[in-house]
Amino acid sequence: MRGRVLIWVVLGVALAVMTAAAILVALSFAKPAGIPANVIRIALPSGAAQIGLPRIDGPADASRPLVVIDAGHGGHDPGASGQRGQREKAITLTLALALRDALLADGRVRVALTRDNDRFLALEERSGIARRLKADLFLSIHADASESPDATGATVYTLSDRGSDAIADAVARRENKADTVNGVELGGKSDSVTAILVSLSQREMRERSKAFAALVLREGQGKVRFHTDPEREAAFVVLKSLDLPSALIEAGYISSPDDASALANPGWRKDFAGAVASAIEIYLARTNVASALP
Ligand SMILES: [Zn+2]
Repeated sequence: MRGRVLIWVVLGVALAVMTAAAILVALSFAKPAGIPANVIRIALPSGAAQIGLPRIDGPADASRPLVVIDAGHGGHDPGASGQRGQREKAITLTLALALRDALLADGRVRVALTRDNDRFLALEERSGIARRLKADLFLSIHADASESPDATGATVYTLSDRGSDAIADAVARRENKADTVNGVELGGKSDSVTAILVSLSQREMRERSKAFAALVLREGQGKVRFHTDPEREAAFVVLKSLDLPSALIEAGYISSPDDASALANPGWRKDFAGAVASAIEIYLARTNVASALP
């Protein structure tokens, strides 16, 4: 009898191993060409290897505040597409690099980029980099697209449990899709887990994030053309799991001819970067003063 049980156990283990191997083989065939190897690593459950941390630029003084700038999309995820073949992932990278350069030129804060090349990162890896670096501010940069040619201008988003309106919800859903590859949810969490993540401390962070968003609008006046409703709240995954102040800027609509030519113009990008850099520096100076108070 014991022998027979043992045989069943051995057969069971063998079947489990064979099933796992078959799934692995199927997954490797399902992976389209061009997806970097780290996609597989991302899909692993908790305990998977973390991606390396990016370089920190700027003042060597580690007590200086740190901002992490996230160029949206990248790698096999192109983001939105413009009429003239522009891809959001390329626009976000040029804007992120311009913003980094503006901040480094001022020399007041330290800067790290989640990516400085065309690579894919899962949404939670982006915020994860900021958390692991103990950043003081996280800013994700995107460029929107709309079927309406009238949609123009930049919008600053901060986290909300629910979008402030239906349009904000739709934008969040579109951006959040980047975390689903081949039907496998890479970084998403269930609504109940998300609800837990949005804790009391995050409410405080939301207030700080909104203060930063207001500064972006103030510093951008006359330099950045904003959407008619430029400050919104939406449920972006990239902002959701954070316990640090964070915002997402849709710098403009690549579906709009005017916005698309502005985004492609290095002069406009410099103005945009200068305005956002001022907002970052003012925000971090205020926060540092506040946290130094008893
Ligand atoms: Zn985007």
